[in-house]
Amino acid sequence: MTKIIAISNQKGGVGKTTTTITLGAGLVQQGKKVLLIDFDPQGNMTSALGVKEPDELTNTISYLMDQELKSQPILMKDTIHKHNEGMDFIPCNINLASIDAKLVNTFSREKVLKRVLSRVKNKYDYILIDCLPTINLLNINALTAATDVIIPVQAEHLSIMGLCSLLDSVKRVKRELNRKLNIEGIVITMTDNRTNLSKIVEKTIRDNLGNSIHIFAESIPRSVRVAESSLAGCSVVQTDPHGKATKAYQSIVM
Ligand code: ATP
Ligand code: MG
Repeated sequence: MTKIIAISNQKGGVGKTTTTITLGAGLVQQGKKVLLIDFDPQGNMTSALGVKEPDELTNTISYLMDQELKSQPILMKDTIHKHNEGMDFIPCNINLASIDAKLVNTFSREKVLKRVLSRVKNKYDYILIDCLPTINLLNINALTAATDVIIPVQAEHLSIMGLCSLLDSVKRVKRELNRKLNIEGIVITMTDNRTNLSKIVEKTIRDNLGNSIHIFAESIPRSVRVAESSLAGCSVVQTDPHGKATKAYQSIVM
């Protein structure tokens, strides 16, 4: 069965896109067939995978959502790009923002992405969805299409705030739309062992949430190699295969 994982947190800049790409590249190394979905109008994942002008693209996840909304035929294969590390990806750009508005008046509006993915999911072991930093209908679509959710949380002050509303919407989706949705866990990102603050925040997150939600044992250290890799259009698994961030991401066994 295909595992469809939404990487979600409505807080911005916590490492969703980085986690999606790095886990995807790690799974490819394990011999898995992987599809990454950029589901954020910012198109950051698309850029970080080496696409120079995401906004120029027409064959994106927005096109697929739009065709599905209009019940028009869908040419899936034109939207599936191949990355040189072995994962497939469907790009995204600013056009996804207009899809959010179109969803409002649609029948079964929470299930549009699920219907799109049902056309390809048999070809993959894993589909990872890089969510946008907002709780809206697009995010609900991602959670409804997913079998699992991974929540990156940055090791910084105030990082727990806002998590409650995300967990509430996960619970609501579970209750009303997707009973089997499983919270795979929280991954703590951008830790810095040289500072006490980072250690205190990490401990606070583990102490406060560890009883109710699985928190991956290894947190992801801050590493300049991560930021460099996205500039190079690839994952840190490729640019720094033995680095600490790569090793930490590889320890997230799914
Ligand atoms: P958004 O909410 O805007 O979509 P995001 O949650 O997807 O953001 P990322 O884009 O993955 O977050 O990360 C935010 C920034 O932090 C990026 O510049 C990224 O390169 C950097 N970053 C992420 N993880 C690490 C890390 N472990 N070490 C150093 N920099 C990191
Ligand atoms: Mg992102």
